[in-house]
Amino acid sequence: MNDALIARDRASWELSAAALKIEGRAFIDGRYVAARSGRVFDDISPIDGKIIGQVARCEAADVDAAVAAARASFEAGAWRRSEPRQRKRVLLRFAELIRADIERLALLETLDVGKPIHNSINVDVPNCADCIAYYAEFADKLVDEIAATGPDDLALIRREPLGVIGAIVPWNYPLIISAWKIGPALLAGNSVVLKPAEQSPLGGIRLGELALEAGLPPGVLNVVPGFGEEAGKPLALHPDVDMISFTGSTEVGKLMMRYAGESNLKRVALELGGKSPHLVMADADLEQAAAAIAWGIYYNAGETCHAGSRLIVHEQVRAGLIDAIERVARTITLGHPFDPATQMGALIDSGHLKRVLAYIDSGIAEGAHVAFGGRQALRDSGGYYVEATVLDAVQPHMRVSREEIFGPVLAVSAFREHAEALQVANDTLYGLAAAVWTQDMNLAHRLSNALRAGTVWINSFDRSSLATPFGGFKQSGFGRDRSPHAIDKYVDLKTIWTAFH
Ligand code: NAD
Repeated sequence: MNDALIARDRASWELSAAALKIEGRAFIDGRYVAARSGRVFDDISPIDGKIIGQVARCEAADVDAAVAAARASFEAGAWRRSEPRQRKRVLLRFAELIRADIERLALLETLDVGKPIHNSINVDVPNCADCIAYYAEFADKLVDEIAATGPDDLALIRREPLGVIGAIVPWNYPLIISAWKIGPALLAGNSVVLKPAEQSPLGGIRLGELALEAGLPPGVLNVVPGFGEEAGKPLALHPDVDMISFTGSTEVGKLMMRYAGESNLKRVALELGGKSPHLVMADADLEQAAAAIAWGIYYNAGETCHAGSRLIVHEQVRAGLIDAIERVARTITLGHPFDPATQMGALIDSGHLKRVLAYIDSGIAEGAHVAFGGRQALRDSGGYYVEATVLDAVQPHMRVSREEIFGPVLAVSAFREHAEALQVANDTLYGLAAAVWTQDMNLAHRLSNALRAGTVWINSFDRSSLATPFGGFKQSGFGRDRSPHAIDKYVDLKTIWTAFH
């Protein structure tokens, strides 16, 4: 099926988009509902700045209804207390329905986010389905524990679901990041209220319906689209929500901690921003590094939390490496996301476009210079496109070196000594990811151990698997998505102690 989708041209996708019936209502207690206020907002596509459809503008009353439905389903126990193999069956079916719905989901994701349709088909939709299936498989394989006690005691250590999970997600990978949260939370027996980002609500709304169709009881997965302050905040402040699983900016992540403290001390897990460095030693394979560095910053137009946005390179190889990155960048086609040749699409909205361009200007004003790119592209489209860009001669104190740009902009600085490279790499608020490029494996491991980051790649970038935990050190957050470790976030441990008399 994917081959047929991959073979389609831009005109054919435009026809499908025009024929698409957009569902923008909230999904609460197993059915679509308008916001109680009746209010909607325009969902605008970054592809061309045009309105895709209207979406329910949920507020506190809608969040209350969704949380009440989630709580009622949790207490009723139709999901929580179901047989593990039943949970597995339903979640596997959910994954299959996501796969079967690839044409619509890919279209919604591309319309909402402006990413190339081929990425939505090859990466976003399959990864979303694979993640749900991955956690489904744990349902009948997890075992609880018996503690080592004296012979007259039996202490069972059991995992119990937390209750109602609020999942608040960003706009850059809406389907994948939603699945990273929904998968383990549902597997563990929780009920969920998902709040998609206001820029990209359509895929998440669709997931609610597919889960119901797969056999998830009504109320176990609810979706409330809306703005951060209006829908996200009441969810995070809600006294009947047991945990917030948040992915987004560090700034809003800090608010999540505050909301938890001001309400019911709900648990909080945070996947936040990044400013991930590549450390390239003089002996590195420059062609290999250039390809990974270019794709690591230009994939998804740089709107990736762990994008390799800083290049810290030995001064001997700096010029050669920048040339090699430019050669790769020239092969990455920027264009209309429905065009099959397009590999880099639009930025999420006009505000973000201005922000990314302002960062490039600030770099220049502080003394960096543009090695290539640096300009807005495809202006006539009405959408929000920026060229693949390298800023050279960046100093560690500059804003472009310290702040997350979240666009296709690589900041390059040079070093002479390894210690200096490490110091610059770690001199950041963030700690999501890093990469080390060298033929010297002793050095690679010494540097990897010293880097403060949740993932360190050696001679590679952005290789990933559902089997590996993903998340940050420092202000990139805490708690991990993916891997069996993610399940720990969505359960409490209960000890049940029996004494034999
Ligand atoms: P954001 O923090 O502005 O928004 C994220 C979500 O939070 C959205 O759903 C938004 O509506 C909601 N929100 C905003 N203000 C809120 C408030 N006051 N109360 C409750 N909810 C609120 O982030 P964004 O701009 O959508 O996404 C980009 C950011 O996400 C970047 O910093 C990026 O690095 C980060 N991100 C991190 C990861 C990761 O896994 N570490 C993955 C993807 C994106």
